[in-house]
Amino acid sequence: MPRTIYLYNTASRNKEQFEPVHDPVGMYCCGPTVYNFAHIGNLRTYIFEDVLKRVLLSAGYKVKHVINITDVGHLTSDADTGEDKMEKGAQREGKTVWDIAEFFTSRFSQNLKDLNIIQPDIWPKATDHISQMIDLVKELEKKGYTYRTSDGIYFDTSRFDSYCKFARLNPESLRAGERVEMGEKRSATDFALWKFSPTDKKRQMEWQSPWGVGFPGWHIECSAMAQKYLSLPIDIHCGGSDHIRVHHTNEIAQSEAATGKQFVRYWLHGEFLVLDKGKMAKSDGNFITLDSIKEAQIPQLAYRLFCFTAHYRTPLTFSWEGLQASAHSLQNLRSMVPDVDNCRQIDNGVIEKLLHPFYMAVYDDLNMPRAVAALWDLLRDRAIDPVVKRACVSCADEILGLDLLLEQRKFSEELIGSDGVKIKLISESRLSDTDKINIVEKIRIRKAARESRDFTTADRIRDELGGLGITIKDLPDGTTECTIPASVPG
Ligand SMILES: [Zn+2]
Repeated sequence: MPRTIYLYNTASRNKEQFEPVHDPVGMYCCGPTVYNFAHIGNLRTYIFEDVLKRVLLSAGYKVKHVINITDVGHLTSDADTGEDKMEKGAQREGKTVWDIAEFFTSRFSQNLKDLNIIQPDIWPKATDHISQMIDLVKELEKKGYTYRTSDGIYFDTSRFDSYCKFARLNPESLRAGERVEMGEKRSATDFALWKFSPTDKKRQMEWQSPWGVGFPGWHIECSAMAQKYLSLPIDIHCGGSDHIRVHHTNEIAQSEAATGKQFVRYWLHGEFLVLDKGKMAKSDGNFITLDSIKEAQIPQLAYRLFCFTAHYRTPLTFSWEGLQASAHSLQNLRSMVPDVDNCRQIDNGVIEKLLHPFYMAVYDDLNMPRAVAALWDLLRDRAIDPVVKRACVSCADEILGLDLLLEQRKFSEELIGSDGVKIKLISESRLSDTDKINIVEKIRIRKAARESRDFTTADRIRDELGGLGITIKDLPDGTTECTIPASVPG
């Protein structure tokens, strides 16, 4: 019997007890549009979805997880105008659309690996499912939900009575907005199912259809791929909160209009990662990638822990200081795990009981801040047998995915200068050359100051390094031993 999980369902705006209809549980997550690197705000959504999947698995469910790859048809404007992001990306990079799709798909897959996100069971690409999309549009056409304009086939939202329900849209205010970007659309909320290729320039990606040469709309892609791999109603559909108003509202309208069945039972949405200046967005060029974190010599998994500092349904403000703090926390968590051989058979009941507060938190709509706090309490509890404690951490880490049992690897290097100065550097992570030069330079100055009995300078340098978490020890043979934490600021 799987354990009881409560999830906040966007459809009802309530926390509900999760009761799937399928085994394995069907889970569809809107995937990346592969025209650029994913920014860490996008990745926050995939981390939340990964935690959800791990929680379902730990509660005893099997899961069939689909993340699609959007490699065509996502336009720069939600109003079905603007350029195709993929074609625009190809122009920017001077490559073919197919090449950039392949490149950014593989970068995205690497990002998932670096964040310990379990790869989905199925990764469908939009361009491999054009015939399913055409079939779905044909079905909608047959049932009278479509109309044609000079640039495409559109979904007539006025025919779908509950269109405004999911996003709690106000039909009056929608009508007021109809003056903008209407084109030939009958209503502002109508959206393209199939777009015709422009007549003035040749697109790299286009297909024949019963309506003319063109390409699918972004929303129909998700409906077609979700229905191909998962049975309706899909148990869980996830995405970023920015998808509620347009993308998911449209997915529901076209899927339910075509099939006459409920599309999804539980809708879960992750909130944004924000910068002090506002939302992180690729359109402003204002974005940080996982590679930027690696370049800053911060372990990428520190970002996963950073995401656990806020509930997935609340916005999280990113700062490098906050990320550094999470890097230290990660290091501390790992160092507090008892280093003992886990050979003894431990009673599951004992682990369950000790992890009760942890499980209560994760099964309560994935409350990760509370779950991490429960783990700290467990690690600090001296009354727990070290072998049992290690086994508990191992179970908790199946959900956390933080490699908490990873041995702290230390990098050690001995340097002897031409002037005979001996320095030993011990660091938790590989140091960049710049960091190394800066640290060595400071130690040299300190050593020279000590030799000329300038203790004020010597102490000041020791304090400066201490402020960065770096400790210095003067060994009897004259070597200065310097211990540097995993994430030393440059
Ligand atoms: Zn989608």
